Amino acid sequence: MTSQPSILILYTGGTIGMIKDNKTGAYKPFDLDNLFKVIPALELFNFDIESYCFDPIMDSSNMSMSFWGKIVDVIEKNYEAYDGFVVLHGSDTMAYTASALSFMLQNLNKPVILTGSQLPLGMIRTDGRENLITAIEIAAATEDETPIVPEVCIYFENQLFRGNRTHKFNAQNFEAFRSPNYPALANAGVNIDYNRNAIHKPNFKKLKVYKNLDNNIAILKLYPGISEKIIRSILNIEGLKAVIIETYGSGNAPNYQWFLQTIEEAIKMDIIIANVTQCQVGVVEMGKYETSINLREIGVISGNDITTEAAITKLMYLLGNLKNREQVIKLFETSITGEMTIQ
Ligand code: ASP
Repeated sequence: MTSQPSILILYTGGTIGMIKDNKTGAYKPFDLDNLFKVIPALELFNFDIESYCFDPIMDSSNMSMSFWGKIVDVIEKNYEAYDGFVVLHGSDTMAYTASALSFMLQNLNKPVILTGSQLPLGMIRTDGRENLITAIEIAAATEDETPIVPEVCIYFENQLFRGNRTHKFNAQNFEAFRSPNYPALANAGVNIDYNRNAIHKPNFKKLKVYKNLDNNIAILKLYPGISEKIIRSILNIEGLKAVIIETYGSGNAPNYQWFLQTIEEAIKMDIIIANVTQCQVGVVEMGKYETSINLREIGVISGNDITTEAAITKLMYLLGNLKNREQVIKLFETSITGEMTIQ
């Protein structure tokens, strides 16, 4: 590691670099080609900061699996040359991208910090300036020549979170993200206080990237009144390999006969059915209530306290890289990169 930390900023788009369209008044992506012009304070860092701008840059609502592959490519190609990476990204799907990257970049021993903002950098009250500056500082932070945060994280409004534990919960406030089931990895005030016990330790192994993802997965959110017709049509989608059922409370679902029978039929057709709670805080405990005992008995697997964002990207990764269904199930119920709490 050099004495002057080197940071690569990957710019994917998002509000942080947007401008208002004169005609429509809507925010649209804008080329952030010279970050130093926009934030002259970056020059004050004694860091070697370079940036990589994707083409096209986008509102993160347009994020895709192939774009995740491009982000992974840039990190992989530049992995040895930089000490840390900052990914500028729209906040809308940032939790999905952070979750996906945490599975696609295994044996990660360098920081990959995603950040963005609720107001563009060009606006006086922007939150982007602080978010970007502190994200860079965290990406460059070392102790005994080892990165302090060698994992995929989201930094937003003074808090650093494990990426695959986050969820965007607020569309208006600067404090847009939460990590409901895992503590913040750092809090930035006058000092940046790292929660060292919660942060991954580096394993010093060689980075391994996984770009094959499989999206033959559906998310089925339960609600009172959901009909058999709707559930059957989802479970009959051609090529479907897995379904995440967003259940109630601690993993409960209706115990009507038609419901359980439809799910059981899908499992017999080798479709993986995973139970993830609609609640933001807490864990799936199949068997706690009568309305979840049957789910476990027919072979529904538990998402534990995983977020929906991490569950879908984890299944994309597992199905894209493993042929054996039993292995996918086993690893889904295991914590791969700290995305779930195993009691
Ligand atoms: N729509 C924007 C995006 O996700 C919102 C943001 O950046 O905060 O790209």
